[in-house]
Formats: sequence, C-alpha cells, structure tokens
Amino acid sequence: MPELPEVETICRGLAPLIIGKTIVTIETSGKLLRQPVPLDEMRAALPGQTINAIRRRAKYLLIECGGLLIIHLGMTGNLGVFTAEQPPGKHFHARFCFADGQELRYHDSRRFGRIAFFPAPSATAEQQFFAACGPEPVDCDAALLAEKCRRLQTPIKAALLNGALIAGIGNIYASESLFRARIDPKLAASALTLSEWRRLLAAINEVLNEAIVCGGSTISDYVNAEQKSGYFQMHFTVYDRAGQPCQHCGTAIAQTKIAGRSTFFCPKCQGENS
Ligand SMILES: [Zn+2]
Repeated sequence: MPELPEVETICRGLAPLIIGKTIVTIETSGKLLRQPVPLDEMRAALPGQTINAIRRRAKYLLIECGGLLIIHLGMTGNLGVFTAEQPPGKHFHARFCFADGQELRYHDSRRFGRIAFFPAPSATAEQQFFAACGPEPVDCDAALLAEKCRRLQTPIKAALLNGALIAGIGNIYASESLFRARIDPKLAASALTLSEWRRLLAAINEVLNEAIVCGGSTISDYVNAEQKSGYFQMHFTVYDRAGQPCQHCGTAIAQTKIAGRSTFFCPKCQGENS
C-alpha cells in the first residue's frame, strides 16, 4: 500500500506532465472501486477545463481542474500519463484524455482505490472530506500528540498507523521511524515522554523525507509505467530484515506482530535501556 512518500512522489512526478493540460473527455471501466466513480458529474463539469495544480493531503492526490478531483490509490492504484495510442492495461479504470492526445490513466488491480469529485470545491467541502484525517507529520506538534495519547494503552507502533492521529504513515515507515527514534514499538503510546515524542516526530519526518528523495530518482519510471505501484528501492534499516544484523549495533533484527501487522525492530537499540 503506498504510504505518504510514494503518494508525494507521484504527485511531484505528475505535476509537470499534467499541469496546463486541458481535459477533453473522460472514460471509465464502469467497474466499482471502493466507491462508485462519479463519471456523470465529471463528464458534466470537466471537458474544456484546464488542470491548474496537483497536491497531496494524507494519502490522497488532489487535482485542481475547475472542480477538484480527489484520488486515493488504495492498495494497488497507479496513475500514469500515456499517449492515446498506448492500449489501456488490464486493470484500467479511468482515463482523463487531454487536448494534446495524452491521457492521465488510473489502473488498480485490487480496486480498493477511490475517485471523488467536487464540481464546486470550497475550503469547507475539503475540510469536511478530510475531517477524519490527522495532521500531516510535518504539521504535528509533539506536545499535542503526547496529550492526545495520554490515556492510549495501544502500542506506539499501532498508534502511528492511525491516520486520525497522524496522516500518511503505514506499516513500513512506522517501523523505520521507531528504529530511528530508538523507541520500542511495543511501548504503550501513553508511556512516551515528551522528549521521546519529539525524537519520534523528528525521526518520522526524516524517514519520510529520505523516502521522497529516494523516490525522486525513479520518478519518471514510476509515473509512466503501468501497474508499478509499491515502494521505491529504498534501503530499509529494519523493515523486512528479520534475523539480519542491526546496522547500528549488530544485534539480529526481531520481528513481531502488533495489531496484526508485521513489526521489525532491534531488541537492543529499541530496548528499555536504549
Ligand atoms: Zn541495534
């Protein structure tokens, strides 16, 4: 499942390819994504409109085009720019055809993605759409997070996956950030001190930024190739490295399950006396 850095990278990669393009037609597969694709509403409002901007909020892409298109890639969604001559892939679900013959296409094999559309967007409508989303990691305040988690007995690793607390962090970057901050993923969220929250927040933002930088080097492949969703060739320090030596202390990386999700950590660096 793409996390914040992957979505941010797709956003940055698509920007030069779609900004300034005029939408002529819209077609869909007719298949249901997580919710129905609002084809009639898009067809009524979008032809003749120019794409002005693309930005990211949490794991959503927001395309400003007169109206506002909001796209979530779900587990396996992928957006790419193609020429009209290139045949649509097997898991094609939507295409926005531009006046210059190019197309923005959405592919999604498992169909957990979502396409929403606001013909007359407003700050209020956008706020409502994202009402359940926590702040972006870069906008989070350590003291506020500590306060929100004051009574939360959930392990910190599970708390980080809660998009209502902090947006955009998934399973991989939660493990990576906790390792960087030297915090035991099993520790109750309520047990973190303010200085640990500060350390964790700094680690989260570092890890996410490094992933975005790493993604930037593969960006053209990513947005031009169909069904290449997933993670960049990032060098994870703990994720999926069970049994391999910790890059810091040499101890074997341990694997456990927290809230049903695989969690990787260094028992020494992230232990009680770290
Ligand atoms: Zn270690």
